[in-house]
Amino acid sequence: MAKSLLIDLSIEEIENITVGLGEPKFRAKQLWQWLVKGAEFSQMSNLPKGFLDKLSQDYIAQGVEVYGEYKSKIDGTVKYLYKLCDGNIIEGVLMKYKYGNTLCVSTQVGCRMNCAFCASGLDGLIRNLTAGEILGQVIAVNARNAIGEDRGVTNIVLMGSGEPLDNYDNVCKFLTLVSDEKGLNISKRNISLSTCGLCDRIRQLADDGYTPTMTISLHAPNDEMRKEIMPIAKKYSIADIIKAVKYYFEKTGRRIIFEYSMIAGKNDTEECARQLAGVVKGLACHINLIPLNYVKERGLDGSNKKNIYRFMSVLEKQGVSVTVRRSMGSDIDGACGQLRRKVVNNEDN
Ligand code: SAH
Repeated sequence: MAKSLLIDLSIEEIENITVGLGEPKFRAKQLWQWLVKGAEFSQMSNLPKGFLDKLSQDYIAQGVEVYGEYKSKIDGTVKYLYKLCDGNIIEGVLMKYKYGNTLCVSTQVGCRMNCAFCASGLDGLIRNLTAGEILGQVIAVNARNAIGEDRGVTNIVLMGSGEPLDNYDNVCKFLTLVSDEKGLNISKRNISLSTCGLCDRIRQLADDGYTPTMTISLHAPNDEMRKEIMPIAKKYSIADIIKAVKYYFEKTGRRIIFEYSMIAGKNDTEECARQLAGVVKGLACHINLIPLNYVKERGLDGSNKKNIYRFMSVLEKQGVSVTVRRSMGSDIDGACGQLRRKVVNNEDN
């Protein structure tokens, strides 16, 4: 039998294992505190060696190892490559703001959604990440202490490669583990989940009591255009999405964020802006305009500044809350999936 990942387990599950191995329950808490610091069994100095030996017969402690680190000279953003136990490579970005350090985490290796502008979907879905592998990205970055201060990761966005709501159970377990007060204790208010709009799962998340800031990758103001750039639009219409986020807002009280990546000559006209204002009318929401990052294999260009600000001013005139997202780490392949692809392709060649 292949070994399981200990960091996949909640403290209650670790307590059961600990007691099952004939150790007192408090050892589980000690073990968990080591795990969330990124320790391997050999570093857990206050635990009995016999206990650690028994554990290591069935378990590995950590599932994510930092494999590469690229710091932006422009804004201090750090891009990470991580290696998983099976050799798969994933990536993430750490962005430093005045209010804290935001880590963008991946939820899948690859992605099934195949959006027309995105690098992550180019090879399809390779596999889901487990809860411990999502958590492990946060742990690995904290342990690396690349942050240069004591604070560590304070905010998390599930916006790396993968569609989080297509890996529902593992993502929910991750949300529980990462905000556990005895562990990393990251406030639930500081976590955002970005989705291409899996409407049933948006509702389910609210029903199951999870409350991350819901971020919807909209990218088009009507269904016809959305179908051209996002295959998922064939399954869920924009009207379906609006109904689902209204439900989410009613249940959680959290304002909805829409992401709109601006593609030159496609979705960046004044008419698109007017349609978009109509779509979000009356919703408690905010729109983030994102200059599209160029992905070689996709061949789509980002809009120029003039068009982005013209688009923004149409929205503002309609009373919509909107900002243009600052592009961070542009010198280090900040956009999702790009860095991983470069490295994986080079290794293959
Ligand atoms: N699957 C989820 C989360 C991952 S993508 C989702 O669709 O939201 C995170 C965000 O980056 C999404 O808004 C996505 O549309 C956007 N994105 C992907 N490729 C991009 C690119 N080349 N340029 C700009 N934004 C991109």
